[in-house]
Amino acid sequence: MLTGKQKRIFYKTDEEIELLREACLLVCKVLTHCAERLQPGITGMQLDKEAEELIRDHGAEPAFKGYRGFPATLCISPNEVVVHGIPNDQPFEEGDVVSIDCGTFIKGFHGDAAYTFAIGDVKEEVMQLLRVTKTSLYKGIAAAVHGNRVGDISYAIQNYVEREHPYSVVRELVGHGLGRSLHEEPEVPNYGRRGNGILLKEGLVIAIEPMINLGKRDIGQSDDNWTIFTRDYMPSAHYEHSVAVRKEKADILSDHRPIEAAIEKNPALRTVELIVEDLADTVFAGN
Ligand code: MG
Ligand code: MG
Repeated sequence: MLTGKQKRIFYKTDEEIELLREACLLVCKVLTHCAERLQPGITGMQLDKEAEELIRDHGAEPAFKGYRGFPATLCISPNEVVVHGIPNDQPFEEGDVVSIDCGTFIKGFHGDAAYTFAIGDVKEEVMQLLRVTKTSLYKGIAAAVHGNRVGDISYAIQNYVEREHPYSVVRELVGHGLGRSLHEEPEVPNYGRRGNGILLKEGLVIAIEPMINLGKRDIGQSDDNWTIFTRDYMPSAHYEHSVAVRKEKADILSDHRPIEAAIEKNPALRTVELIVEDLADTVFAGN
């Protein structure tokens, strides 16, 4: 989401968290379908149509479609597009990296998750950007526990990404609270200071979504008023989970595992491994 004004924070009951989980797992079902279908030659518009059908078949609604006028079910953001790409009829190609972000609305609550896919022969430096971005998401999740502050999540992501890699964290777009609204307070930036920001309490549900550029952090927005791209046209990566803050460790409501099982079975896609040794010092929440 884009950064904006402070509003009130809604803490969720256990029953509401289960409804949020249902919405998030439907998002992951859609992303799993994308993982089965993605290959050179297929277009974003095709995936978008199939995604909308799948969501409606489950008695849900695509949360992005019509949100502030967004025209599609999926945000499809290839290569230098950071986020908010509008699906189009240009076929994907060997070597593309494609972020697919999806939102659902069912039984009064929203789901939100995203995954960046690697099609075929992706350059090693770009594969490593994907691995580090995905690992940074879990660094952030490990900090999303009761008693910490939002800044602890932000710091965990930024420190991991920027300390040992020549990448940059996108500043203008942030994670967010999730609930009856797609974008609730608090904002969850992917950069910041430890101990800053609001206190994390049990029942807070947030989408954590690092957006990391291979080159410089500067971004632009295209004439369609949506597509965010890197100013240096170098690739960007984006992974997103929605999580509920808990006492010992966050409860991850979305699930990347079925997506990754589908990637394993799709010869057109490459697996993006977690850098497990970099998570050794965290309370690793899995999935
Ligand atoms: Mg999303
Ligand atoms: Mg989000």
